[in-house]
Amino acid sequence: MPVYFVNSMSDKTRILKENVPGQWYVDDSCTPCHVCLEEAPKLLKYNEDQTYVYFLKQPENPEEIDAAQRALDICPTGSIGNDNT
Ligand code: SF4
Repeated sequence: MPVYFVNSMSDKTRILKENVPGQWYVDDSCTPCHVCLEEAPKLLKYNEDQTYVYFLKQPENPEEIDAAQRALDICPTGSIGNDNT
């Protein structure tokens, strides 16, 4: 099992309410820039106004966890976190 590092920039006290409950989240610093959607299109989704993205689905298998981690790694604002436990 690979080791994933927690992104220390994200803030779980600022989690967007649309995120499905679970470990992974987007906080309210999302701009949005879209790049994470290219890495994890099955997990992340725009809100109605396309002003931010949120986790529609928590990753449930190694491929989805890899996708979520790539999204976290590529996010330029550090808005994605995986420490909501
Ligand atoms: S990469 Fe980060 S800032 Fe860009 S849309 Fe995704 S969560 Fe928002």
